[in-house]
Amino acid sequence: CGIVGYVGHRQALDVVLGGLRRLEYRGYDSAGVALLDGTGSIAVERAAGALSNLEKRLAEADGSRFEGNSGMGHTRWATHGAPTDRNAHPHRDSSGQVAVVHNGIIENFAVLRAELEAAGTEMASDTDTEIAAHLIAAAYADGPTAGDLTASVCAVVRRLEGAFTLVVTHAAEPGTIVAARRSSPLVVGVGEGEHFVASDVAAFIEHTRDAVELGQDQVVTITRDGYRVTDFWGQDVEAKPFRVDWDL
Ligand code: GLU
Repeated sequence: CGIVGYVGHRQALDVVLGGLRRLEYRGYDSAGVALLDGTGSIAVERAAGALSNLEKRLAEADGSRFEGNSGMGHTRWATHGAPTDRNAHPHRDSSGQVAVVHNGIIENFAVLRAELEAAGTEMASDTDTEIAAHLIAAAYADGPTAGDLTASVCAVVRRLEGAFTLVVTHAAEPGTIVAARRSSPLVVGVGEGEHFVASDVAAFIEHTRDAVELGQDQVVTITRDGYRVTDFWGQDVEAKPFRVDWDL
C-alpha cells in the first residue's frame, strides 16, 4: 500500500524505513525492503505484520548486507496471496538480479504466469506481482531491450493490465531505480545528489520539498544526479515539478 525508492548519498535503509513509517497511515499487512550495496547483489528482508517485525529482523541480520546508497521499501495490502512472509514484497526473479515492489493489481497476471511456467520458471510466491520481476529480468537479459533497465520496464508494463505502481531495480545497475505508474499514485522527490520515488510525498518530505508528479502511463528513471520521465514507449514527456508547501 506504500512504496519508497531511493538513490543518493545517504544510507538507503534509513531513508526507506523512515519513508515507510510515514506511509504507515495507509494501512498494511506486511512490509519489506531491498538494498543494493553496489557489489552486484540485492539484499532483501521481508516480514508479515507490523513494520516493527521487519525492523527486528533487520536488526538481527548481518547489518553490512543492508549498507548501500540505493534501495526500496514496501508496505503491502494483500490482494493476491495471503499476507505471509513469502508473499511480502520485494519480489525477485529466479536469479535474484531484479527486485520489484508493487502497489495495485495486475489483472492479467494469470495469463503471464502460465506463460512463464510453461517456459520453466518457478514461482516463489502467490502474488500477481512476481511475474513482473521474471518478465523484466528476461527483457533485460536478452532481445531488443537487453542491458537497458528503463526500456526493459517499458516493454513489460506495456503488457500489463490493471492499476499499478511498480518500482524496479537490477543488480547490474545499482545506481538506478525505475518506476512506472498506471492509475496508481507515484511522485518523484528531487534532492541534491539524491532522488526519491514514493506513493506519497510524505515519504520524502523531510529530505526534499521539490517533487514531480508522474502522469498516467509514465515511467521515471532516477539516479543520484537526475531523473528522466518517459511514456511507456520510452518517449520523453514533460515533467510537472511542484513544491510541497505544507507541513506534515
Ligand atoms: N497485488 C499486490 C499483492 O497482493 C500488491 C498489493 C498492494 O497494493 O500492496 O501483493
